[in-house]
Amino acid sequence: MSQAAIGDPVSEFVGGRKFRMLVGGDLVEERGKRSMVTVDPSTGDRLTEVPDGTAEDVGRAVAAAKEAQPAWQAMGVDGRAEVFAELGRAVQEHEVELAMLDAIDGGMPFEAMRVDVKISLSNIRNWPTLVRWHGGRTIPATPGNLHYTAFKPYGVVGRINAFNHPLMFTITRPLAALIAGNAVVLKPAQQVPLSALAFGELAREIFPPGVLNIVTGGAEPGDALVTHPEVKRLGFTGSMRTGMRIQQRAATAGIKALSLELGGKNPMIVFPDVDLDEAVDGAIDGMNFGVCTGQSCGSNSRVYVHRDLYEDFVARAGERLEGMKVAAAYAEEVDVGPLVTEEHHRRVMSFVNSGREEGARLVTGGGRPGNGSAPKDGFYLRPTLFADVRPEMAIAREEIFGPVISVFPWEDYDDVIAQANDTDLGLTASVWTNDLSLAHRTADRLEAGYVWINDSTTHYWGTPFGGMKNSGLGREESIEEYESYLETKTVHTILREPERSLARMRDR
Ligand code: NAD
Repeated sequence: MSQAAIGDPVSEFVGGRKFRMLVGGDLVEERGKRSMVTVDPSTGDRLTEVPDGTAEDVGRAVAAAKEAQPAWQAMGVDGRAEVFAELGRAVQEHEVELAMLDAIDGGMPFEAMRVDVKISLSNIRNWPTLVRWHGGRTIPATPGNLHYTAFKPYGVVGRINAFNHPLMFTITRPLAALIAGNAVVLKPAQQVPLSALAFGELAREIFPPGVLNIVTGGAEPGDALVTHPEVKRLGFTGSMRTGMRIQQRAATAGIKALSLELGGKNPMIVFPDVDLDEAVDGAIDGMNFGVCTGQSCGSNSRVYVHRDLYEDFVARAGERLEGMKVAAAYAEEVDVGPLVTEEHHRRVMSFVNSGREEGARLVTGGGRPGNGSAPKDGFYLRPTLFADVRPEMAIAREEIFGPVISVFPWEDYDDVIAQANDTDLGLTASVWTNDLSLAHRTADRLEAGYVWINDSTTHYWGTPFGGMKNSGLGREESIEEYESYLETKTVHTILREPERSLARMRDR
């Protein structure tokens, strides 16, 4: 592919455009020299500079959110649903621009990012429908009393996002908080600010000023949001390490409600009765090679295949990965794009090297594409498959967050369950068998918050998603998420005997 073909979308969608933060209904630029450079991972070229938000920017955004929140709450679900509908129309109109910005800035293939826009649109539509009839309870705790519960939004919510679905996380992660009547300050990941800031321009025209604020930058504005005393509820998507830090830091500023969507080292278990092709497809789809270069929390990066199928599985999966085209994320033909940054590329390569050194069998991948299909300075790694991986190897233990899949043979059922559970993480798991009892018994024994049977990767909106163990706290994409953005208030009334009430009326 020629450099000119690559350059076109960059000049069309980024060009000399100014990207600004959204604070209190205003589009604001960086202060002084506080800007950060964003890079095109497909070419390694510098794209543009965007504001590197400060603690002061976060302070302004929180103040604006606090001021805007009561009127937003007073609009009720119907009023907020109208705003959501308008937001959906605006996002739909800008679908190509928003998806292309993710391809350019994040390295995720354009067509996959169009799917992310579609998912975002369905989320925008779904939330008001799901919560319209949500209500409290009456509780028959004691006779002669009326006890009921009502729900109140927290007020100002802070949301901090990971980099791997830039626009989709920007749009969808604040929705539950917003429809519940909270105002939100959102901090996207510093590697991928462009689609979030472009979305901010649309949101500015639709939300009342201050209801949704977007501050870009890294750990500094992130920490300012976590420790701001007015932010009573935090939602975080990111790594286990940052999640642990956030838990600690949040506690220094008061009692805060937290939800944490963290990493995964997710097992897939393949039983000997499956259709081999289906299971191979499930493993490859489940890695999200094509959506975000395997940089996915739900990727089934550890695949345990029964010895009867093992060699055939490895050979077939290796062939399929060999056939995937690695190219620029906005190339006409692309199956797998680059990794998000040079630094992350280095980190993933260190795992590939450790796999080789520790004696795993490299079946395919392990380096850059050699056929000139991708620009030479992009952050590429061919889809990589290691076989004969042993449980003590680093590639079997650590979340790599890249296009690296490890395959292990197994023979003993209890042993494979123990191996699958032998990790601090517990986000997802995938079970492949046609035996119904075995499938459900296995799902029951796996320590994961979300288990697929004969499926992988897809999130079914409305079903709770989230991790066990160090993979997180709380559940999203469901009514559980909505409730987590509301505080429960119990109201208790004594119901006097009717004679007493009537006697008082007579005596008046
Ligand atoms: P990260 O933890 O490095 O960063 C996530 C966010 O936290 C970024 O916006 C970053 O700027 C911010 N941050 C960093 N330090 C901070 C601090 N001290 N205080 C406040 N904020 C801070 O994660 P990442 O590299 O962007 O994303 C990859 C990780 O996210 C992986 O572990 C992946 O599994 C996880 N993830 C989980 C889910 C899920 O739904 N469970 C979804 C996507 C990604």
